[in-house]
Amino acid sequence: MTAPAAIRAVLDHVGIAVSDLDAALSFYRDALGLEIDASEEVRSQRVRAHFIPLGQGKLEILEATAADSPVARFVEKRGAGLHHVALRVDDIRAALAHLKARGVRLVDEEPRPGAEGALVAFIHPSSVHGVLVELKEARPAPPAPPAVPALPAISRYTVGDLELISLSDGFFRLDGGSMFGVVPRPLWAPKAPPDGRNRITLAMRPLVVRGVRTMLIDAGLGGKENDRFHDIYGVDRRYSLDDALADAGLSVRDIDIVLATHLHFDHAGGFTTRDEAGRLGPAFPRARYIVRRGEWEDATRPHERNRASYLPENFTPLADAGVLELVDDDQTIMPGVRVRRTGGHTMHHQMVWIESRGQHAAYAGDLVPTAAHLPDAWIMGFDLYPVDTLAAKKAFVKEAIDRQALVFFPHDPAMAAAYIAETHGKRSVQRP
Ligand SMILES: [Zn+2]
Ligand SMILES: [Zn+2]
Repeated sequence: MTAPAAIRAVLDHVGIAVSDLDAALSFYRDALGLEIDASEEVRSQRVRAHFIPLGQGKLEILEATAADSPVARFVEKRGAGLHHVALRVDDIRAALAHLKARGVRLVDEEPRPGAEGALVAFIHPSSVHGVLVELKEARPAPPAPPAVPALPAISRYTVGDLELISLSDGFFRLDGGSMFGVVPRPLWAPKAPPDGRNRITLAMRPLVVRGVRTMLIDAGLGGKENDRFHDIYGVDRRYSLDDALADAGLSVRDIDIVLATHLHFDHAGGFTTRDEAGRLGPAFPRARYIVRRGEWEDATRPHERNRASYLPENFTPLADAGVLELVDDDQTIMPGVRVRRTGGHTMHHQMVWIESRGQHAAYAGDLVPTAAHLPDAWIMGFDLYPVDTLAAKKAFVKEAIDRQALVFFPHDPAMAAAYIAETHGKRSVQRP
């Protein structure tokens, strides 16, 4: 092999060996306010790596998983601290040949598998003036998931005397594993292809019900979040709720009632808006907002497990503006529209049953976020009480089939609503 004249290396990451992992991560997370990616175990090095993205580069926090791990020996000898600098190259074998030809001492003559599926090799510190340098050839990124099919952004349905209009607040992405809980990736990935960050595409589909009043059920993410949030959640709001309302011939002033299934940011984000002076207020100026009391209490007093989903700017301005109405029980909100607590996803998550002239529809909220969640065990890892979700879903699906109800899926990327069928225990959907 002929060695290239130069190695075009860029900084990939800086490796830091730690002895007290929790204390170290809490420094980066709490004191520096950085996002810590999922960890990865590198068996060959008996080490667990925690990556912290930093613009173009990363920190790699290294925790030994065995007493004979090179990182454990490093910490024992030299104490915790800077461990190595990693440079990314296009062709690691060519880079190693290049260095060898120049008499550089190598720890690894041949590349071996490292974290993130990359090939890695180390250069001996004696050749780098005391610094351990890792060379890394990144594996090509997995193929991008198929583009979300272009959809009519709004769709209209009739249920008796009521008109239902499914709207869109665009798309976002959540971790595929979290979306399907205990279901293994080989089963869910064909139905919801993950991207290079293991995220799947989800829609946000609020629903308008027009009867004696005009009601909006949930309101999507809204436009208040920053670029960092949009990056983490892969937000695509090129077509948002405002566009959808306009396409439906409606404006924010036409909405009389805003009804919340629950207050997670992908449902309640659109409840409030910021005016030009930066003040937060209700996004629907004439509406009263109906929220389950227990959900309100949980959202305003979150704990470590649900805090990331409840953003106070989405709902506290409603109380301040005096437009909030808390409901305690299952009840009729307007003629033909009833709420029912399901629990499961959150303790007080509620779904909406719609009925007029013997015809039925249901907005199940995050009880059944997509059509792929119809099988009993396909329950989100996000759910706080998954066994309650299981019971509520069984009862709901039976009822939806018995009533021949049109079921709306708030997050299905390809389908706003469908009828559910079940043959020999296997559930399927039929588009209206
Ligand atoms: Zn939710
Ligand atoms: Zn949701």
